[in-house]
Amino acid sequence: MNNEFRRALFPGSFDPFTRGHADIVERGLKLFDHITIAVGHNEQKRGWIPIEERVRALREFYKDEPRVQVESYDTLTVDFARRIDVHFILRGIRSINDYEYELQIADINHDLSGIETVVLFAQPGLANVSSSIIRELAHYGRDIREWLPEGLTYQI
Ligand code: ADP
Repeated sequence: MNNEFRRALFPGSFDPFTRGHADIVERGLKLFDHITIAVGHNEQKRGWIPIEERVRALREFYKDEPRVQVESYDTLTVDFARRIDVHFILRGIRSINDYEYELQIADINHDLSGIETVVLFAQPGLANVSSSIIRELAHYGRDIREWLPEGLTYQI
């Protein structure tokens, strides 16, 4: 790893990865040379789509975008960020409700590692449906494809 390029880490549960998440990556690519999307393991958060399948589907989705890499990790986010030597953590804000939470994470991560967080707003129309709403719709048998980026398919 080297410091020639501006590299960012986009961490999250991505259960599932929404059109809003894809929008954050697209916007992030205007600011950064390279983005690592990292699917976090957190045993306390009940996962719907298996982690391996989240990673597989995202790698397939971004296979023609060499500036995006997809990984999973099961450490503290900042430890992973240091391990892969990124300069920034990238997060998304869907609405004002996310602000306090994202501010706290950014602050803690900065205290722990010195790594700055860049927060981008998702396009309003894409931001209104969260992963948890999609999981609920799917649970009750609704077609969720319109909330996923076109071309992203999970095999579950
Ligand atoms: P976490 O559990 O770490 O918040 P998520 O997968 O829910 O993981 O979110 C990852 C990042 O994407 C967070 O910065 C979150 O605020 C942001 N995010 C979540 N949903 C959306 C959305 N629909 N549009 C844009 N950003 C989003």
